[in-house]
Amino acid sequence: MINLILLGLPGAGKGTASEKIVDKYHLTHISTGDMFREAMANQTKVGLEAKSYIDKGNLVPDEVTAKLVEERLSQPDIKEGFILDGFPRTTNQAELLDGITERLNKPLTSVISLEVAEETLVERLSARFMCKDCGATYNKLTKKPKVEGTCDRCGGHDFYQREDDKPEVVKNRLEVNEKMNAPLKDFYEKKGLLTVINGEQTPEKVFEDVDAVLSKNK
Ligand SMILES: [Zn+2]
Repeated sequence: MINLILLGLPGAGKGTASEKIVDKYHLTHISTGDMFREAMANQTKVGLEAKSYIDKGNLVPDEVTAKLVEERLSQPDIKEGFILDGFPRTTNQAELLDGITERLNKPLTSVISLEVAEETLVERLSARFMCKDCGATYNKLTKKPKVEGTCDRCGGHDFYQREDDKPEVVKNRLEVNEKMNAPLKDFYEKKGLLTVINGEQTPEKVFEDVDAVLSKNK
């Protein structure tokens, strides 16, 4: 059984790595965002509790998120193991997770942190831009318009960048995330579970490194 936490800042390639891990090891990918949406849509007890905070614009307390995670990890579809994505974010949440994995007898086997230099993340995350006329989304690195300066969808020539995607804003968001990540890495380092992997490599090479860690857990 492989029970994995994937850590990494936005843009570090967690999504791509998760897909490849799920393909090879048949783990259940558990994203906190999806879990919240599902629980609220199904109006479960914990889902409604979480909603009452979100509706007031408040943060959902760690204890409520942890209850949701425990409910999800108790489901029978998790046979080969799980990848947790988006939880824990803090050491307090990591301690709550320790209790959960102990109660369910599903101990963590690995914590992998995908690391990419800040400049690279800023470059990746601020590459997005949009058409002013129709809102079509493009990316300077991965999805340029077919004819430079002309929107594929509407033929418009005016483009803009959303406030959230501007390099200064992206940089700020990364710094906030990094501050939260550092103590979490220490926490798992001390438990001997942490492996740091260089996320600047090609997705294939990143997966090779991930695979080397996971095959030891198998
Ligand atoms: Zn357009």
